[in-house]
Amino acid sequence: MRVAVVGGGIGGLALGAGLRRRGFEVTVFDRDTDVTATGGYHLTLDDRAQSALTELVEPKIMQRLLASGSALRLRERDAFWDRRGRLLGHGPDLSDSGSVDIDRITLRALLAEAVGDDLHLGRTVSGVSEDGPRVLFADAAPVSADLVVGADGAHSVVARHLAGGPTNSPAGIIGFSGRTRRADLSPAEQQRLRSRSGTAIAPHGAALYVGFLDPVGNAALDAPELRMSVTTGPTYIWGAMLPDPAGSLRTLRGRELQTALLNNFRERRWAERTLEVIAKADPDSVAAFRFNAASTRAADLAPWPAGRITALGDAVHATPPTAGMGAGAAIRDAASLVKHLSETDRSTAVERFEAEMRQRGSEVLTLAMKTVKWILATNTPLGAAATAVLTPLMAAAVRLRR
Ligand SMILES: Cc1cc2nc3c(=O)[nH]c(=O)nc-3n(C[C@H](O)[C@H](O)[C@H](O)COP(=O)(O)OP(=O)(O)OC[C@H]3O[C@@H](n4cnc5c(N)ncnc54)[C@H](O)[C@@H]3O)c2cc1C
Repeated sequence: MRVAVVGGGIGGLALGAGLRRRGFEVTVFDRDTDVTATGGYHLTLDDRAQSALTELVEPKIMQRLLASGSALRLRERDAFWDRRGRLLGHGPDLSDSGSVDIDRITLRALLAEAVGDDLHLGRTVSGVSEDGPRVLFADAAPVSADLVVGADGAHSVVARHLAGGPTNSPAGIIGFSGRTRRADLSPAEQQRLRSRSGTAIAPHGAALYVGFLDPVGNAALDAPELRMSVTTGPTYIWGAMLPDPAGSLRTLRGRELQTALLNNFRERRWAERTLEVIAKADPDSVAAFRFNAASTRAADLAPWPAGRITALGDAVHATPPTAGMGAGAAIRDAASLVKHLSETDRSTAVERFEAEMRQRGSEVLTLAMKTVKWILATNTPLGAAATAVLTPLMAAAVRLRR
């Protein structure tokens, strides 16, 4: 059976690796010319994503992945702050967590290695045709396959063809992200942020997530000889969020964006100490992106009859990064498709895979949208007033308890 995969991001490469491992003839096409020149920050892989990966890649790739990942169980409990940096509370105990944070570039490079020469870079797909089915390119001959899988992300041409239109829409938030080395922060801010992730909330839809990553000190597998993380020491990967539209901010890049973002948060009366993590970021790492989301209803996902063209990952269930589950869901989709295609009754494999994917997509989207809705609720008159009144009270209660 010949499978053509459109998109060599996380889901497409995971699928390519798994199919190749099971002896399928597979070809993965991606428009990027270099898998490591893609950007992106850390991705969280929970237990389920890791067990899916164990099915898809050889144990030696899995070991390198774990040696390059930062274990959540070695992190302190997450914190919640207000815009002044006052502590409001803590997240759950992470000591039992099996989740790992890994650089997106590292994960993609490892998966690309597993796909080997079945990955074709610099190949932009212009569409798909039911006849064959075939993958179409603007500058090359079409490629026929027995099954075409669209793993081409939130703006998928394959899923758009299947659904007859976009499969997701803007979620109402613009995200701004960047990378800051812990050592670049003042001692006071290092002490406040500590080796934990956290989120600061404020009225009017502004929030700041600060994720802590240390693939060296907190390695999930202590095997330095196998490590290939892009992050080489304690680092904060932060994500600032503002209601969409966020004025001209989305069109800016690098230092200009960093300065404009800081000014926007200052105008919203955020304290300088909470903004230090943005101010001390590497300007080249600062980028803006719109959160897109598919429907949270399983019945709305993959709204097409099962056939010889299908799709997975963000192409079907585009998920904002607020639950850290988009990459894991794409990997689990890939493992599910490989499993069903490997079973004796292949005639209903795509149907069974799509049914599972609808449930999985709905589950992760519901979680991710909870946070999005919560942030957007602070941008209503009532929500803004409640946040302004309640956060100082919560901060005072925490101080008293101490
Ligand atoms: C550059 C980038 C950075 C990201 N950074 C983060 C991050 O820091 N944190 C986070 O939580 N999530 C991030 N994500 C999203 C996260 O990686 C995805 O949600 C998740 O991996 C889902 O995987 P996917 O395979 O469905 O889609 P993706 O991983 O987005 O992969 C889609 C792939 O399809 C390719 N593609 C798209 N259109 C075409 C076409 N017409 N022809 C050929 N190839 C095409 C793209 O080049 C891309 O490689 C990022 C995504 C991208 C693309």
